[in-house]
Amino acid sequence: MPKTSSPTLGLSSPEIFQLRQKYGWNEIAVHKSESLVKKILRQFTDLLVIVLIAGGVLAFLLGERIDAIVILSIVIINALIGFIQEFRTEKMLDALKKLVAPLARVIRNGKETTIPSRELVPGDMIILSEGSRIPADAELIEINELKVDEAILTGESVPVTKTTDKKQKAELRTVFSGTTVATGSARAIVKAIGSDTEFGQVAELTTKTEKSESPLTKEMKTIGAFVGKIALVISLVLFLVGYFWQGHSLIVSLLFAVAVAVAAVPEGLPVTITTALALGMRKLALRGGLVRELKSVETLGATTVICSDKTGTLTYGEMTTVSGWMTETGEFSVSGSGYDPHGSVDISKNNKTAELLFMAGNFCNESALVKSAQKWKIIGDPTEGALKVAARKFGLALKTSQPTKIFPFDSDRKRMSVVVDTPSQSGAGQANIYAKGAPEQLLNRCTHFLDNQKLKKLTPAIRKKIIQQTEVFAKNALRVLGCAYREIKKGEVKKLTVDTAENRLVFLGLFGMRDSPRKEVKESVRLCQKAGIRITVVTGDFGITAAAIARELGITDEDTPVITGEEFRKLSDAKLKKLLNQKKNLIFARVKPTDKLRIVEAYKKLNEVVAVTGDGVNDAPALKRADIGIAMGRTGSDVAKEAASLVLTNDSFASVVTAVAEGRRIYSNMRKFILYTFSCNIGELIVVFATIIFGLPLPLTAILILIINLGTDLLPGLALGVDPPDAEAMNLPPRNPSKRIVEKSFILRFVSVGFIIGILVLIGYLGILWSNGWQWGEILVINAPLHRHAMSFVFATLLVIQLFNAFNFRSDTHSAFSRKIKTNKWLWGAIVASFLLALVVVEMPFAQAIFGTTNLSIMEWGMVTVLAGGVLVFEEIRKIFQLNNN
Ligand code: ATP
Repeated sequence: MPKTSSPTLGLSSPEIFQLRQKYGWNEIAVHKSESLVKKILRQFTDLLVIVLIAGGVLAFLLGERIDAIVILSIVIINALIGFIQEFRTEKMLDALKKLVAPLARVIRNGKETTIPSRELVPGDMIILSEGSRIPADAELIEINELKVDEAILTGESVPVTKTTDKKQKAELRTVFSGTTVATGSARAIVKAIGSDTEFGQVAELTTKTEKSESPLTKEMKTIGAFVGKIALVISLVLFLVGYFWQGHSLIVSLLFAVAVAVAAVPEGLPVTITTALALGMRKLALRGGLVRELKSVETLGATTVICSDKTGTLTYGEMTTVSGWMTETGEFSVSGSGYDPHGSVDISKNNKTAELLFMAGNFCNESALVKSAQKWKIIGDPTEGALKVAARKFGLALKTSQPTKIFPFDSDRKRMSVVVDTPSQSGAGQANIYAKGAPEQLLNRCTHFLDNQKLKKLTPAIRKKIIQQTEVFAKNALRVLGCAYREIKKGEVKKLTVDTAENRLVFLGLFGMRDSPRKEVKESVRLCQKAGIRITVVTGDFGITAAAIARELGITDEDTPVITGEEFRKLSDAKLKKLLNQKKNLIFARVKPTDKLRIVEAYKKLNEVVAVTGDGVNDAPALKRADIGIAMGRTGSDVAKEAASLVLTNDSFASVVTAVAEGRRIYSNMRKFILYTFSCNIGELIVVFATIIFGLPLPLTAILILIINLGTDLLPGLALGVDPPDAEAMNLPPRNPSKRIVEKSFILRFVSVGFIIGILVLIGYLGILWSNGWQWGEILVINAPLHRHAMSFVFATLLVIQLFNAFNFRSDTHSAFSRKIKTNKWLWGAIVASFLLALVVVEMPFAQAIFGTTNLSIMEWGMVTVLAGGVLVFEEIRKIFQLNNN
């Protein structure tokens, strides 16, 4: 075991280096992911692909060498594209996962800092607080009411009370990696990391990398399987007709039938959807939102209500103590800005009550004030940081004694307290209990107050005065905290419990802290209003403060009532339902985390899609229950982050709205390319089917069908997936999440467009045949000049028509020309690439030899374009009708 770090300084950099060399990184080797070869081979396991390969091999054996090579090349290219797409998506998701990697609070080189947990080494001193995930196995050296949830290791859901008492069992003196701090705080020395930890040993046996699938991916898979079955039947019919009725060779009939099936089945859609979602996740990550599960991107777009915290989400969460109040002096102000401890307090340093007031703020404090890169920062709770800074401005000596006991803050009782030894003149050991908390919660525990060094009884009149002052601060949007204290004998310390410590307290005064509303939130609130998304502020803070901030941000107005936690808990379910059903923005103040869960559940019962923010360990159930749980990346506890589906790196409400907008964009793009793919596939099927029914010559060879499928479906489809947001996207009400994407109007749209594609292509096909002397019923030999000519025309028309068709789906209701056409450069790139492919296949002599095509005249290319434009005209007319009918 390495040298234990010094109790105050922690490890030094050279020690860390040596220990890293010896013990490696603090990470657990999980199961190896699928090998590259396996991944590539998996691309060939689809039944249709296997049949296609078999057909290719058969063609080769039967002497159709060129056909065989082309078919096999297409199969390989298709598989490679699938593989690259999957591989890139996986890499992207892995990289995103790393962004949510847990952090650890440590003392190194004498300074407190935060590092990725992966960098911990045995011997490091770690600091744990409520909600921390324990990053390694560590021996406790200092604890404050520490209870640890070890369910992950033991299955036991009751948190374990830990101790530093050497006489107790070793496991009670140790905290284990992977478990979480349920309450309290502690310092501990790391003993084992990575796979050497208890959790590491279990995890290596059991960890599986679970892949989450979005509902849409699942829906596409189901549809894919359904279409696959139909395609098999169709290809069987095609094969029989081709072989027995039309007299084509076995290999031509077989390959044609399979190619049609391949073209009809949207086998690439699930992967394309996953890629689109992953790209969306990456985009969101750049804007401050880390989505932990693919499927959440989809749900995000359907959000109808956002339940948001106030502190840190609507506000910056950077507290500055700006005023204070004591009964004997009234209000006083504190100057300075941010966490910079330079500033002053307009009150005499000799005022004993003031000294105790600032001491309470300073000692009831688990934060650390640090200066890095010339900037003063807080590690820990900003509220406490602001009090530490204020104490320095008041001139409190810093190197005073440390608390001997801490009863940490929790959002249920909304208070905290500490015990600090005081130098005593009498010699008998003396100590002070200092407490701070939400004023009304603290006053409940006070019996006296200090007035000019005299202890006086806290009369109802004085209580009223204190509450009134709290409201004065709160109306100015300040966060208000009260402080109190009590002298005790040192001997009493051991027996103290939270309840006995926070009792018979002497009220000292109030602090008012400014936490400015975030600038960017006002615009996000406006966006929510336009997008039909309601905002419910659910805060632990005082109602008046919350109302002032919410009004400043335009969330609520003067008339919006504030429902306090107390009122809320008295509301019956029916009344709560009625309240939420008013579909208005609301404020719930002074709530407890359990109240949050009830609000989320009530909204869910009303079929709302709820996004809820949270940071504390007690918020985890609400985060899990919500459709979208959102944790704060900077201030949130590890437990909250793990329960959430979205982690905000900048903690801002604006990022929630950006995420919702992005969710809507992605969903609408997925709809676009599903519509596009299906309509193109139906168009192709109609062409093939009609020619069979009407006894026309084969319109395309198997190879040409495969090329259309490869070159055109894929590129414009993918480009639609990255279409920029529709201006309309945030002007519409949220979509109904229970509605499946493939419903009646959706089917009608792609079937009708598919039909038009089929008809236009058939018109062109018959036109070419007739204008070149073909008679109805005449059988054309494959490769006859007229057949090559007509096929080239069909190929070119189908290809170009699909390019025009891509523009149809950029908007459901608006003209293809109304969206700024240049906004999607990928679509233009895809169109140019596909068009070049058509030109090469039809016009280049080498390609003509391979694909059995022939030149088209300029006139004919003109006809191709006119016919292809027809699909655009059809949809434009439909959109005009639709707009007029709405
Ligand atoms: P939100 O729920 O919007 O984040 P919040 O941070 O005020 O708001 P909590 O953290 O539950 O919610 O705090 C509730 C109340 O408890 C605060 O309004 C404050 O009065 C008091 N409080 C907050 N932090 C501390 C602390 N560290 N010590 C003592 N009291 C605190």
